[in-house]
Amino acid sequence: MSHRPIDLRSDTITQPTPAMRRAMADAIVGDDVLGDDPTVTALENEVAARLGKEAALFVPSGTMANQIAVRAHTEPGDEILLESNSHIYFYEAGGIGAISGVIPRCVTGRRGIFGAADLLPCLRPSDVHFAPTRLVCVENTHNRGGGSIWPLDALSEVGAFARAHNFRCHLDGARIWNASVASNVPESDYAACCDSVSACFSKGLGAPVGSALAGTKLFIQKARRFRKQFGGGMRQAGIIAAGALYALQHHRDRLAEDHANAQHLAKGLSVLPGLHIDPREVETNIVRFEVESMPASTLAGLLKQQGIRVLATGPNTLRAVTSLMVTLEDMETAINVLKGILETAP
Ligand SMILES: *Cc1c(COP(=O)(O)O)cnc(C)c1O
Repeated sequence: MSHRPIDLRSDTITQPTPAMRRAMADAIVGDDVLGDDPTVTALENEVAARLGKEAALFVPSGTMANQIAVRAHTEPGDEILLESNSHIYFYEAGGIGAISGVIPRCVTGRRGIFGAADLLPCLRPSDVHFAPTRLVCVENTHNRGGGSIWPLDALSEVGAFARAHNFRCHLDGARIWNASVASNVPESDYAACCDSVSACFSKGLGAPVGSALAGTKLFIQKARRFRKQFGGGMRQAGIIAAGALYALQHHRDRLAEDHANAQHLAKGLSVLPGLHIDPREVETNIVRFEVESMPASTLAGLLKQQGIRVLATGPNTLRAVTSLMVTLEDMETAINVLKGILETAP
């Protein structure tokens, strides 16, 4: 191998930078369950301000942020509406059923995006036979949709639909930072369409741990109790909150670089034989592509042998995700290695 290892499996593989580690080492901490950690409080205040919400809560993971949101918005036996490829439905280990006892009803979006028209058939009259619908969940950017961005109009339409029918609306904004940097729509504009928002620090922003949940003061009070109940109350959490705060302040704007690298990779892959990808569908840092000539897992294996890691996400589909761990030069290398594999494939 004449190049350095290139890990494109996910933006969760990002490592803290030396400056981030210094910020973490220097953090002033306290017992956050007792409300004493000034660094956690500073992070929560900054997230609330950036998202235009009254309050925010620091939690260990994006999954916990979403699960707390569902729990706080619903009661067991309620129905929630979500997209069939959404993270909350697809990737959270059945948590909404196990923890909140809600029944999911899925709508199918286009690359994860849907509109009020898709929700309309889900409306039902109040009747003892029916589980009352309480919550609509949206995801921006949409992970399995390929990092797709919700047009603000579509999100605002879904938010208005939810309000009109007295449903709450939760935005899974694990990658809301990517959405805003790519679209130039402020995070707070997306957040304004929804009652609650989760956002991740340990993906593209590069912090080692943590997510936040934001909403009204009352909602966050409720969420704080569920965080404790779920075992997510942390003591001197300022150590990790400092990494998240540093990430938010120093790594948000540079996500544009990841998007440019993803675009470069997508364009390079689009001309390779036996690969299918439309670079126009690459809106942020996730590059999904299809392979014709072999199973996706075989291609992922061959790439791994040559020091390039991607994820097979289906029988013929793969994804490569850019982050602060990779450069434009790495994209060139990945394209060339893939070209070599595909040209010599039987
Ligand atoms: C990664 C991700 C999450 C949460 O992930 P954790 O690994 O639990 O932090 C939630 N939603 C989306 C859309 C994600 O991509």
